[in-house]
Amino acid sequence: MSVRVRYAPSPTGLQHIGGVRTALFNYFFARSSGGTFILRIEDTDRERYDPRALQDIYDTFDWLGIRWDEGPRVGGPYGPYFQSERTALYQKHAEKLVQIERGYYCFCTPERLEKLREEQAKRKEPIGYDRHCRNLSLEEAERRKRAGEPYVVRLKIPLEGTTTFHDRLIGTVVHANKDINPDPVLLKSDGYPTYHLANVVDDHLMQITHILRAQEWIPSCPLHVLIYQAFGWEPPEYCHLPMVMGSDGHKLSKRHGSTSLIEFRNAGYVPEAIINYISLLGWSYDDSRQLFTKEELEKLFTLDKLNKAPAVFDYKKLEWFNGVYIRERDKETLKKELIPFLQRDGILSNPITEEEDRKLTACIPLIQERLKFLTDASQWIRFLFQDLLPYPVEALVPKKGSREEARKTLETLLSTMDQWFPKDPHQSEEFLRTLSESLNIKLGNLLMPLRVAITGSSVSPPLMESIQILGREETMKRIQRAIQLLSE
Ligand code: GLU
Ligand code: ZN
Repeated sequence: MSVRVRYAPSPTGLQHIGGVRTALFNYFFARSSGGTFILRIEDTDRERYDPRALQDIYDTFDWLGIRWDEGPRVGGPYGPYFQSERTALYQKHAEKLVQIERGYYCFCTPERLEKLREEQAKRKEPIGYDRHCRNLSLEEAERRKRAGEPYVVRLKIPLEGTTTFHDRLIGTVVHANKDINPDPVLLKSDGYPTYHLANVVDDHLMQITHILRAQEWIPSCPLHVLIYQAFGWEPPEYCHLPMVMGSDGHKLSKRHGSTSLIEFRNAGYVPEAIINYISLLGWSYDDSRQLFTKEELEKLFTLDKLNKAPAVFDYKKLEWFNGVYIRERDKETLKKELIPFLQRDGILSNPITEEEDRKLTACIPLIQERLKFLTDASQWIRFLFQDLLPYPVEALVPKKGSREEARKTLETLLSTMDQWFPKDPHQSEEFLRTLSESLNIKLGNLLMPLRVAITGSSVSPPLMESIQILGREETMKRIQRAIQLLSE
């Protein structure tokens, strides 16, 4: 039987690390086993439904370059893939359970249930349904239903015995049926299914073979298995994925830092780094290999290499991956990726002009090695596109030097500009070295005032290359301005 797996997000919030990890593992498992990856939108909770969350699902996976074989936008033989469009199916299935007496209609009013809860609380008993309607005859129930009484459909949880499920990672789990929430609602009075019914019916109808999902769903498993059994169906193979923790050993959450993908994207992470790092949260290929492209994971991923132990999300590690992938980028791709960030920071126009485009192309080789994030580019190259922000005059003066010396240095540089203004940065460096020797100052002390005059900072991309990009006229102006500053 060929593998069919699904990612089944509820569009109630933004895609975060945990969800994306689930999606990636399902996706890679499908790819590496020649199976099918399905996206199913679990949107039956209409109160928590948020259209932005649906858009975020599309945006996130488009950005990561992850495509589903069946699901929204692409369709497939088991659609529709939005649960909200499948309510008739759930109703039919709930009905069926009632007919075979594995489920029953319950007519209890919200008032009765509220009172029941209050009494249970008063008596310090566990809160739960008292199975009041479980023994209504089917005839009687049908009659009341036809008469228009509102009803829900509940599952008959066996009163005795145990329910067992097997999880590939966790092993066999046995649950006493008497400990399971008595007779949960499967179909609500508005005709919408509860999460459990829709989830099980769809996994069955869509012929899902493996369920890879977060461990928070383990407590629902016995109930799900009972629903499969009630229908006479075989449950898929379960594999609940290891938890993802922050560095403090608590479940990863906002307290630890960014968790939603859109935040990482806006902070200048590249998709390759995210995919690579997230794939190592609870999975490893061997003890040493860390770098994997998406294409490699599509071949190498296996469930056997999942770890039982919780994974720790290490922000520093992700940063490191990001730097690795940025440095590996081909220049043209990197340029394209940087443009929106540079526009966001007001450094480039939108659309980008030809002149800016030419300059930016020249900048890429100067900064690529220095970028940890796509967002870093602005700080490195702003001086090439905009007037300098005011800098303190002392910044122009080398340690143990005086303003007067710095001024003289810059004046010499200005007057010899014809000889060093870069045609070829190496030749200029040669010239400046000789010049510093003849002036009897260190090369560093010659270059430092020049660097600050040109870039506004003592840290910058390679100076001669930058000057070349900046152009002769602007270079002259900046040196003159610095001289003026030093003379005030
Ligand atoms: N809709 C559920 C969620 O958002 C899916 C759980 C499952 O994968 O079975 O997590
Ligand atoms: Zn009832």
